[in-house]
Amino acid sequence: MAIILYARKSVERENSISCETQLEYCRSVIKPGEEDKEVITLVDNGFSGGNVNRDGFQRMMKLVRQGKASKVVVYKLDRISRSLADFVNILQEFKEHKVEFVSSQESFDTSSPYGEMLVKLLMVFAEFERTSIVNRVTQAYAHRSEMGFYMGGRRPYGFELVPTVIRHIETKKLNPIPAEAEQVRYIFQAYAQVSMSLRRLRDILAAEGRQPLNGSVWTTAKLSALLKNPIYVKSDADVYEYFDRHSTQMITDISMFTGECGAQLYGRTKHSPNSPDWSDMKLVLLTHQGIVDSDIWLQCQQKLEKNRQIGNSVSNPTSWLAGKVVCEKCGHTMTTIKGRVNKSGEVRRYFNCTGRSHKKTCTGPKVTIYAGDLENMVYKSISVKLADLKGISRTARKEDTAEVNDLKLKIKAIEKYEEQLLDTILASGFNDDLLALANQKAAQFKRDRSALCERLEGLKSRDDKTDVAVNLTKFWKTAGYQRKKAVAMIMIHKIVISEDGSTKVLWNI
Ligand SMILES: [Zn+2]
Repeated sequence: MAIILYARKSVERENSISCETQLEYCRSVIKPGEEDKEVITLVDNGFSGGNVNRDGFQRMMKLVRQGKASKVVVYKLDRISRSLADFVNILQEFKEHKVEFVSSQESFDTSSPYGEMLVKLLMVFAEFERTSIVNRVTQAYAHRSEMGFYMGGRRPYGFELVPTVIRHIETKKLNPIPAEAEQVRYIFQAYAQVSMSLRRLRDILAAEGRQPLNGSVWTTAKLSALLKNPIYVKSDADVYEYFDRHSTQMITDISMFTGECGAQLYGRTKHSPNSPDWSDMKLVLLTHQGIVDSDIWLQCQQKLEKNRQIGNSVSNPTSWLAGKVVCEKCGHTMTTIKGRVNKSGEVRRYFNCTGRSHKKTCTGPKVTIYAGDLENMVYKSISVKLADLKGISRTARKEDTAEVNDLKLKIKAIEKYEEQLLDTILASGFNDDLLALANQKAAQFKRDRSALCERLEGLKSRDDKTDVAVNLTKFWKTAGYQRKKAVAMIMIHKIVISEDGSTKVLWNI
């Protein structure tokens, strides 16, 4: 049973830490009892962490699957994979083959269930951090070539289709027609007004003699279709979040959503064109400049959604707790459904026992379990749990502090020896034999000192990493729908709803 040290360096980042240095860090976390074990080093130079088709990585997984490894050590978690889905799968395979997983920089290993959960959480938030605004802007340029092609369809009002070539492929680009673009802007701005309805807007446009294509007239259906179309919006992170929340499949990376270009929805299969359910659709960012600001566009979506809810035709967005909520009485999963419109015009989602709705074998809880209320409650509980994780990180830091101190003392001692050595050489009048010996000694001191300094730097950056772990609460505060769902999947085993409506959260730790 061997210990595998795995290092990966990507092509795109020139100044990233070398594989040799990564392996040094890995060696530093091998425990005293493990020194006589076989150590296999596997290296992938010039590979990105975006996929798992890397030679060294594949050899590592082969050894794991053959039961030839007892432990895998990496410099940092993201050396294994930058994709959360891949990472979680790999972790699962390690577990099945009883392979411990240790990261030298994140100061925990997977030999405990607690460490395993922490690893997963950190990956969720690491992904979140990667897509934060600062990174988004710097990555935007690099990802420019990921811009999408026009996915076809009739020309949208406001644009003309011009042939173009993207990545050597002939496609079409949307060019604004000034007069039509002006009218699009006018329609969005008018509809965003609180008092404006689709019918009123239609009447105003008719009275002003404004017309859509081919001299026909604006109808409420045409207006609604236009207002819903993301082809007009200067797509930014808020627009991304909006579609992400509605479970649209996002084709373009969030880093591209810099508030410049319009986007296209495509791939509708079973719904009518006017259906607002975007969950089976894909969204790709195009290369043309958007016409409408994202805040106005989003205001319009909010209004349209409200209309649809009153019309009662919308399938509701699900809860990020979906799959975790269970009826205590019958043990069946509870799913979200939409209630009737209440007096204030709102439609609230609530959890319903599937044992009751599908099999008629259960009467379910006696009180209505509103999804919003349950989500708020669990949201707060998770905040508290994440704050608890701080304690663990701090203990780890205390040990580090002692080691940092120890290293500093050792470095000081070496510096003293070096001074003494110099004094000896000066006093000896440069005796040849002594000089050779002194040189040897000096070289040894230098090596020892740089090793200690590197270890010290490692511990310092570990401190930074611990700060990231500590700040999980901060990330949680700004987490969107998908992120909340991912965290809930990791932390929560079940949420049990009893007959009287009381709730119990069963945690994974
Ligand atoms: Zn039930």
